Amino acid sequence: MGIHTEYSCEECNFKYEDSSDIFWIDKAGNVHVGMLAVSSSDEASKALASGGIYKYYCYNCNKPVYNFHVTEKSAEIPREYIISLIEKMDDNLKIIDFDSKFQNCIKCSKELELKLEKTFVLDSEGEFHVGDDMDDILEMPTDFSGKYYGYYCKDCSKQINKFVIYENNAELEDSLIKEILQDHTNDLTVFINGSYEYCPDCGDGLHVLSEDSLCPKCRIGVLKIEKRSFSD
Ligand SMILES: [Zn+2]
Ligand SMILES: [Zn+2]
Ligand SMILES: [Zn+2]
Repeated sequence: MGIHTEYSCEECNFKYEDSSDIFWIDKAGNVHVGMLAVSSSDEASKALASGGIYKYYCYNCNKPVYNFHVTEKSAEIPREYIISLIEKMDDNLKIIDFDSKFQNCIKCSKELELKLEKTFVLDSEGEFHVGDDMDDILEMPTDFSGKYYGYYCKDCSKQINKFVIYENNAELEDSLIKEILQDHTNDLTVFINGSYEYCPDCGDGLHVLSEDSLCPKCRIGVLKIEKRSFSD
C-alpha cells in the first residue's frame, strides 16, 4: 500500500510532499517512478531493475535528496548501467545504492546468486542464534542483530558469508562484532548498516521531513500534515 502526505508550514505556507514511491527500469532502459501500488508493483516485477525511493532533505543545500535503493535486478545488467540511467533522469540530488543482498565474488567478481538468507542475533546473555524465525528472540534484549546472506561461487569453489548488522543495541565496536562473528564462521564480510545521513553534494547531515520538522524555508515554523491519502 502507498501513502502520500502533503505537509505545509503554519508560518510561511511552504509545501512539501512525500510518498512511498517505487521505481523500475524497463527493457528499453527507461526509468519509471510510481506510487507503491498493485499496478506499479506488477510493472516493477517485470523490469530489469526496481526498488524503493526514500526522500530526505538537506537544510544546507535547501534541496530534497532522493535515495534510490535497488532491491531487484537481473544478473545481466551491470550496476554502473543502472546508476547512469537513474543519474541522468533529472537534476535532483540522488543517492543510488544496492540492497545488501547483492554480492559479487570477492575472487572473480562475478555476481553471485543468493543461496541462503537467515536472521542472526547475539542476545544479552552472549548467546548467538541463527535461524529463519527469530521473532521470539528479537523481542528479548539483544546486543546486536542482523541478516546473514550466504553465496557460493562455483568457478572459484568459494563460499561467501555476509553478515549485515541492522541493530547494535549494545553499541559494540565494529572490531568486536567482527571478532564475535568470526567465532561462528570462516570467511565473512561485515557490513554495518549505514542509514544515509549525508548529502551527496555538501556532505551535511540529511533529515527526513515529517510532522513537526523545522520548515526549511522560513526556519521558524514547523510542518503540519495537510492531507494524507492511501492507495492500494
Ligand atoms: Zn568467483
Ligand atoms: Zn547538501
Ligand atoms: Zn515556513
